[in-house]
Amino acid sequence: MRIVVLFDLDGTVLTFDGASPGPGRVAMRRAVRDWVDLEDATSGVRFAGRTDRAIVRAMLTGAGYRGDLDLAVEEGIARYLVLLADEVRRRPYLPVGDVTGAVTRLRARGACVGLGTGNVREGAAIKLASAGLLASFDLERGGYGSDAEDRSELLRVAAARCAQASFAGAEVVVVGDTRLDVEAARAIGAKVVGVAATVSAREELEEARADAIVEACGEALVAAIEAVTSRRS
Ligand SMILES: [Mg+2]
Repeated sequence: MRIVVLFDLDGTVLTFDGASPGPGRVAMRRAVRDWVDLEDATSGVRFAGRTDRAIVRAMLTGAGYRGDLDLAVEEGIARYLVLLADEVRRRPYLPVGDVTGAVTRLRARGACVGLGTGNVREGAAIKLASAGLLASFDLERGGYGSDAEDRSELLRVAAARCAQASFAGAEVVVVGDTRLDVEAARAIGAKVVGVAATVSAREELEEARADAIVEACGEALVAAIEAVTSRRS
């Protein structure tokens, strides 16, 4: 199976205990508020499927921030990472199903397993480590919110990094949980397997026409990836 499988993180590989907002969103909100003294800077900003930098930019713009936006985004991300590390100590992330098992089986079948996530790379590492999943992924084989604010662009970066590991020209499968994962995957000509833990996530992925949908990472996911890659498009 000479394919590249790129996993999204939040909602696909990682979940959290308790009610929303999760640790990442809490840290992001605190990072921006703490700095620009905004009241509810996140209202109206959808986090799911977006890249970290794009989220900070949208929060600042939405709150009418008038300073140097690029500089503010960099500063906001730096603060976010410190707060995130602190937040996950109290409330670590959890795997969505048998993530390590799925990755191990995909690699055993010859796939290059990477990440395609809107998280900046350091944030991805903090979240994965808190869920005990850092050793399950090779962070060199990934595209991150620190590589691009646009999701399809970071998937291109991730696929290129896998291509360097002798996977040039291999078919790409994106595993994600939102419409934005599906759209970004289509933009690079990739297949998509959706991970839907909730009814609304499933509806969104069905509407976006994911090639297959499973409930969690595990054997069903590996089977779905095999099915969509053996199918002619
Ligand atoms: Mg996600």
